[in-house]
Order: sequence, then C-alpha cells, then structure tokens
Amino acid sequence: MLTLIINCGSSSVKLALFERDRSEPVATAMVDRVATDAIEGSYRIGDGPRQALSCPAYGDHAAALDAALSGLRSEPALHDLRVSAVGHRIVHGGQKFSAPALVDPEVLAEIRALAPLAPVHAIPNALGIEAATRLFPGVPQVAVFDTAFHQSIAPEVYRYAIPDDLYERFQIRRYGFHGTSHAYVAEEAARRLGLDFKNCRLISAHLGNGCSATAVLNGESVDTSMGLTPLEGLVMGTRSGNVDPNLHNFLAQQAGLSLDEITDLLNRKSGLTGLSGISNDLRVLTDEYHAGNKSAKLAVDVFCFRLARELAGLTVALGGMPDALIFTGGIGENSCLVRGLTLSHLSAFNFELDPERNKTAGADTNGIISSGSGPTAIVVPTNEEFAIAHATAALCPF
Ligand code: ADP
Repeated sequence: MLTLIINCGSSSVKLALFERDRSEPVATAMVDRVATDAIEGSYRIGDGPRQALSCPAYGDHAAALDAALSGLRSEPALHDLRVSAVGHRIVHGGQKFSAPALVDPEVLAEIRALAPLAPVHAIPNALGIEAATRLFPGVPQVAVFDTAFHQSIAPEVYRYAIPDDLYERFQIRRYGFHGTSHAYVAEEAARRLGLDFKNCRLISAHLGNGCSATAVLNGESVDTSMGLTPLEGLVMGTRSGNVDPNLHNFLAQQAGLSLDEITDLLNRKSGLTGLSGISNDLRVLTDEYHAGNKSAKLAVDVFCFRLARELAGLTVALGGMPDALIFTGGIGENSCLVRGLTLSHLSAFNFELDPERNKTAGADTNGIISSGSGPTAIVVPTNEEFAIAHATAALCPF
C-alpha cells in the first residue's frame, strides 16, 4: 500500500508515490503546461530513466492526473497500484489551518474560499482534491498547508501597520510559506546536530526559485520572511522580494504601467532575472559571475546581501544567536558561492565557514560547513514530498 502525494500548481501537476516511512519515492511523475496545446509530462520509477507520458492537448488538471497515473500503471511494478492515502500540497491555509487536515467537504470548501489569498494556487489545489476523490473513492485524503507551520507566529510579527479593519475584513497579515520545508529541515538539522528540537534556536533559509527564511524557536516558527503572498521578503529567481510599497504608484505614474503589469513585473521579471538581465537560473549566473560578468555579479551580490540582512533580522524573534543556520532548496543545497557570500556578511555571528566543507556541502560532515565554537552552518536537503507523505500517514493510520 502506497501514499500518493499530489501537488497541483497553477500550470503543473506533480505526483510522488511513497512506501510508508521510506524517504525516497517509489515513483514520481509530472505534467507541465496543463490546459495548453504544449502540455507534456514524464514519469520515473525510483531513480530510473524518465519516460514520456501521453497527455491530451488542452487537458486540465484532472486529465493531467489521469495521464500521470496511467503512465505509472503501465509499469509492471505498479500495474496493481494500491493507494492507501492521498496527501495534497496546499499553498494557503489562511488563519484556519495550523496543522494538516483530513479532507472532508468542509475542508475543501475552506480551501476554495481562500482563493482571494492565493489566486493562482487555491483553485488548482482544490481541483487536485476533487480529481483524487473521483479516482480513489473512499481513500482518505489529507491537506498539508505551506502556511500551517507559521501559524505559531505572534501578532506583533504577523501584523502589518495598516488600518486594523483591513485585517478584520480581509485577513491581511503576514502568513509565510514553504512551511513544510522549513519544519522538515529544522527538525532534521536538530537531529543531525544532537540538539533538542523543542529547546533550540534555528534559522532556515529555503532558497529555490522561491526563497524564504524562517526563525524556529523551540520547534515552532516565530518569524518568516514571506508575507501575505510569496512575493514578500528575499530576492528570488524572478520575484523582487521587498520593495518600497509606493513602487506600484510610482511605476503607474512614471512608466504608465497597469496594476496587472506591475504585479507581473514584480513576480515574473524581477529578482535574479531582472537584476542580471540573463537568467533566473543560479547555475547560469554562477558561470557568468566567475567569467567576470558585472550584471551577474550584481544579481548574486544583491541576492546574498538581502539574504544576510533577513537572516540577521530573524534573530530578533529568536531572542538571541541561533544554534544553527540551515541552507536548503536548489540554491541553498548546491551553491557554495551563495553560502559563502552570505556568511561573509554575517561576521557578527562568528560563523566560522570552512571553505573546503562549503565546497562539498559538508559531504563528509553530515552537512556541516562551519567549524569552531560559533553557531553551526549546515546544509540539509529538503524533501517536501516525503514530509507531506509523513504528515499524511500520521493522519491515516492503518
Ligand atoms: P523550486 O523552488 O522550483 O523547487 P529548486 O529548489 O529546484 O526550485 O531550486 C532551483 C534553483 O536552484 C535554481 O536557481 C537553480 O539554478 C539552483 N540550482 C540547482 N542546482 C544548482 C547547482 N548545482 N548550483 C547552483 N545552483 C543550483
């Protein structure tokens, strides 16, 4: 019996199948460009080769899910695919959900009702649940929310200084995202370092295409860099992160851009892409950086300075120096350049970065890339799908 993890995004569907308590998936599948004529997908058994999926042109999320499951079932090993529980990655749980929830009609309605807070994700997330309900009748489903881990954050940290009635009417506040990843790597770092997760100070930096950092005090999130939406905070692949809140007005007046155009500019054309004019892919920018490209250097320098400033700010909620700083996500796990530059801005923290360990991401030291008596810097690969499978299994005991 397997746990199926479904991540229905705005234009993609990703699946992963897990055996109970195994951290590597039995199989994965993904379909991209859903509902377009360029829809395409692939699946993979274990770490075997990727196989193409046959996806119908303009197929919606349900059709994409169908195509992915058909592909998986075409494999002899998964011919008789038996799923005992389905876990869904749900981007926004609003103020309602502070933990994973067993899906029932009420929970599904709540997820749909949160669409104003997550316009791009809430509806695809709900469609994923509805499709899985049809495909796996009677099988329990669990919603695992990206925001849930941050519901422990205190009002003085999550409130914006705007008129109170806007919070009451529209729940405008900071929520934070990547919660499943932050919780997973924080607990894993504590385990590796022999710290008591319920009695330590950690900061985690999840650096992928989206980037956020979180302060974790005694096992709970106490501050995080993202806000009402995943645009707030750090510089990201294509997202600006924090800008002056008057920028919308300035751009409308000076550049004649509409509200939608400005929102698109800040979400899709900014960040590393915008600064460098080259790419959002840090691998490309790293090559250019080392080749002496000034735009690539500026983009990486801004990314790292802003990250360092955010990490320093998160110590306020921790009430002191962190025991450890965790790097995760595609950039955090792989970029010794970003880790090194970021820590070079944090000399006040006395991280003693070991350049050799940094280069190998601590391959011989369980991810530890620092040495000495200061706080530890550690690389911990995230595994959001496994964390969702684990949370799902916890609510669906046999
Ligand atoms: P997502 O948020 O989409 O899950 P990932 O966590 O996969 O993203 O991270 C994607 C980012 O990680 C990209 O900027 C990519 O360039 C970067 N990345 C992946 N591998 C490396 C590497 N070896 N060196 C530097 N950056 C890397």
